[in-house]
Amino acid sequence: FELDILKFFSKLWKLDDYWGYVTNSGTEGNLQSILIARENFPDGILYASEESHYSVFKAAKFYRMEAVSISTSWEGSIKLDYLKQEISKRNDKPVIINVNIGTTVKGAVDDLEGVLNILKELNIPRSRFFIHCDGALFAMMLPFLDNTDDINLSLDFTLDIDSIAISGHKFLGCPMPCGVMMTRKQLMQPLLKPIEYLNSVDSTIT
Ligand SMILES: *Cc1c(COP(=O)(O)O)cnc(C)c1O
Repeated sequence: FELDILKFFSKLWKLDDYWGYVTNSGTEGNLQSILIARENFPDGILYASEESHYSVFKAAKFYRMEAVSISTSWEGSIKLDYLKQEISKRNDKPVIINVNIGTTVKGAVDDLEGVLNILKELNIPRSRFFIHCDGALFAMMLPFLDNTDDINLSLDFTLDIDSIAISGHKFLGCPMPCGVMMTRKQLMQPLLKPIEYLNSVDSTIT
């Protein structure tokens, strides 16, 4: 069942070389994704809007990461000029960004294209940033929207993102807590620890 679920989402999010699992919640998906970011960029700094879900800053606390909270516009999405300013202040450190695809209270979607443009403008190479999309609410819906010339809310791994997490018991209405997270397979490399009695690797938080 789990493998089928992952195959479904890998097609929805357009990623062939994927690694993921069915989590216990959107929270666990965020914790796992930010852990992957952390393991790939041990000195990376986490940037997230102040309207991000509390589990994002909880991850920073667990992993003792420096986290920078960025203010939001009236409709709840991250203010790009502030994000740019804060990143440029810490130019020597890798960049880890939590991009909200639907905030908890307002359902705001951060401007992912705008975030990627900032990284380009600041000349941050692909090998120095990690973008996690907290799509607890909308990441399973955006791929089904008809985009127009004015509004493009597409979300998939053809963009320079690294992980997506969703919650299964909110809009999907699953009767027990669950979620799905997915990342690029090669990013899991630092987390795979062989466990002899399992005859497998330990790779997830739980
Ligand atoms: C609810 C929510 C989460 C956490 O989801 P749970 O499945 O309840 O742990 C994460 N991010 C956002 C934006 C949420 O609204």
